[in-house]
Amino acid sequence: MANKLDCKVESIPFRYLGLPVGGNMKLAKFWQPLVENFKSKLSDWKAHTLSIGGRYWLCRSVLGALGTYWFSLYKAPKSVLKQLEGMRRKFLWGGTTETKKICWTSWDKVVREKQSGGLGIGSLRALNLALLLKWRWREKTEPNATWNKVVKCCYGRARSGSASNYNRGVWNSILGVEKELLDMGINMNNFWKPKEDGSGWIWELDSSKEYTVKSMRKLIDGVMLPMADAKTEWIRWVPSKCNIFLWRTLSNRLPTRDNLQKRGVEIPSMDCPICHTEPECLNHLMLSCSTAKTISAHLANWVNWWPRNALVVDDFWEGIRDAGKQVSHEDICKVIGVAFLNTIWNMRNSKVFNGVISKDLEIVRCIQSVAFNWVRCRSKRGKSLSWEIWLCNPVMAVDSCFALASR
Ligand SMILES: [Zn+2]
Repeated sequence: MANKLDCKVESIPFRYLGLPVGGNMKLAKFWQPLVENFKSKLSDWKAHTLSIGGRYWLCRSVLGALGTYWFSLYKAPKSVLKQLEGMRRKFLWGGTTETKKICWTSWDKVVREKQSGGLGIGSLRALNLALLLKWRWREKTEPNATWNKVVKCCYGRARSGSASNYNRGVWNSILGVEKELLDMGINMNNFWKPKEDGSGWIWELDSSKEYTVKSMRKLIDGVMLPMADAKTEWIRWVPSKCNIFLWRTLSNRLPTRDNLQKRGVEIPSMDCPICHTEPECLNHLMLSCSTAKTISAHLANWVNWWPRNALVVDDFWEGIRDAGKQVSHEDICKVIGVAFLNTIWNMRNSKVFNGVISKDLEIVRCIQSVAFNWVRCRSKRGKSLSWEIWLCNPVMAVDSCFALASR
């Protein structure tokens, strides 16, 4: 038959459009091509040449999407998900498949929504389940589609034992997703509901009333991953790299000497590399070290809302947030706050790795210009922000520039 049609005879399992067909997808070995694909992408990108901001976006977009094709048809075994997540995790923290870097935060926390204290990367398991559920949504909303009839035909007859195991396997695992979610406490009947007039279905989790993988994924991750106490601070005017830096700073996950020691890294000295009079920890470096204090005093002269007396990073940030509530755009205060923390950290690294330290006034000027450029380049109305006014009063500079832009 195949010869007559000039087709190639292949044995099961084979690959069709890149997807394996006919293998038992409950077995990890059939997922190896996807695992290999992940691996090769990771080594192509050379983690060490990218900033954490770049690695974050690749983790989120490309690595997140690489499996979409597979995940939309097959339920991945736990071992495969674990392997893939492990690779994403290593990549984010700058390791490659060969080298190891310290992973500073649990992966569960990283993938969580920003609302729940994570970086909003999203877990692959939730992606897989949400993609599979889409078939059930389509089954409900496209009763006359050909594929639906085929499935009904195969699955319907499967009960009497005449359909192949393969058909039964794929559709059964899709049906199994609802049971799995119910065990987690998610009852799908609360989210997809028949329209009152009986003309179709509505999806409660999206304003479009149509099923979206994104909304379903969020719901699953929200239930599956433990909640953090506070929502992640993510400032629109600040680059991802520095938002991630802030996230790490506020949860004390920077490689300061005390943190490195806690993670078993051998360090020649625990002393603060700037003042050499006290051991280095986050609060000392950012707030109570002599250099940090001098810079803070300069900034307090520049803006009258600077929380100059804070001795703990959490209190410092609380002060920045409170100041933000008093001005027209709270992000102005936050932007300057992040620029301060980030510049101190860069100064510290420049001392540790290159033995160079800038003068206090140069550091102050660096903070002012970094914050200025973020607002000017990254806010919609900031193009004509004036440097002169900024140096007198940043809040006034932003107000007058935004007022001009919206005229
Ligand atoms: Zn110090």
